Amino acid sequence: GIGSFLRPPGSGKGTQSPIIKDEYCLCHLATGDMLRAAVAAKTPLGVKAKEAMDKGELVSDDLVVGIIDEAIKKPSCQKGFILDGFPRTVLDEMLTKQGTKIDKVLNFAIDDAILEERITGRWIHPPSGRTYHTKYAPPKVPGIDDVSGEPLIQRKDDTAEVLKSRLEAFHRQTEPVIDYYNKKGVVSQLHAEKPPKEVTSEIQKSLS
Ligand code: ADP
Ligand code: ADP
Repeated sequence: GIGSFLRPPGSGKGTQSPIIKDEYCLCHLATGDMLRAAVAAKTPLGVKAKEAMDKGELVSDDLVVGIIDEAIKKPSCQKGFILDGFPRTVLDEMLTKQGTKIDKVLNFAIDDAILEERITGRWIHPPSGRTYHTKYAPPKVPGIDDVSGEPLIQRKDDTAEVLKSRLEAFHRQTEPVIDYYNKKGVVSQLHAEKPPKEVTSEIQKSLS
């Protein structure tokens, strides 16, 4: 089946997704990660997506759908997959046309007020996807990945200012998607403001 994570920036997806990858043999497709990889590789798609990403606006649906189309053809995705951060606009018709249907939506519900501190304190290790936080999940040595000893980075769009646009896009374009799936009765609400372990058990309950 197909699951979808819908959530505002900073609500904890990067922290929770390794657990999903390990526990459920589902292919995990995070559109943000795939887009950042395309930008870094300077592919034609990455070049087109970069401007919107730098501003905290959504990348156009046709570009994102193109990336997903490619990814779900992989043999590892034939059993089912989790779409992480997609759809952010109401795209059900397109999915239906392709013969795909979203079976389960996990809504990482959280108050906007909490997100600025989470986003501005976030440090990541891009090769592994490990995520740290200066206050809530500090690395043993500031700025250094615990496992590899390599440097951590902050994302260019993880500023209070760009977060404002990202949240605006979330409320205007993605919240209607949650309402849409709510009416179909497939949404599980998570309490994303709780500590990471509690959020993990809520995810496990929703997926069991
Ligand atoms: P965030 O935590 O802000 O949601 P992501 O890593 O998921 O961060 O996405 C980073 C940026 O990539 C977004 O601000 C947006 O520009 C773009 N993006 C990611 N996924 C999508 C999508 N499904 N549709 C449109 N744009 C997307
Ligand atoms: P997302 O991928 O949804 O944008 P992240 O998982 O990267 O969010 O989390 C954003 C920041 O908040 C990270 O620095 C992370 O360490 C921290 N964080 C994640 N989940 C929690 C939590 N439940 N409580 C406190 N801090 C958290």
